[in-house]
Amino acid sequence: MNLTCIMCPMGCELTATKTSDGYKISGNNCLRGEKFGKEELTSPKRIVTALVHTDRGVTSVKTSVAIDKNKIFDVMKEIDKVHLKNAKIGDIVIKNVLGTGADVVITKSI
Ligand code: SF4
Repeated sequence: MNLTCIMCPMGCELTATKTSDGYKISGNNCLRGEKFGKEELTSPKRIVTALVHTDRGVTSVKTSVAIDKNKIFDVMKEIDKVHLKNAKIGDIVIKNVLGTGADVVITKSI
């Protein structure tokens, strides 16, 4: 199975081979690629970015860590409920969103 590593702009083409105890990854130029390849095939995760409304306009947020891909839409629905008076970069908008262990953090002051 072929994958593209998204952990840095190099975008290494990875090849995953099934083994008796998981997957063997090749084509990676560093250990992050090996970890990404194995995780992508067993429990894929992504950082979520989104926009939230404030009294002064729209600003951007992201999750503090990558969350399971199958929870992205539920997390987006939680983020969509947010309306702020103002926004300061680094402030936490939702702590431990849906028990994922990720905080939703403001990435742009407004
Ligand atoms: S394997 Fe390493 S060098 Fe290649 S894209 Fe992934 S993080 Fe970047």
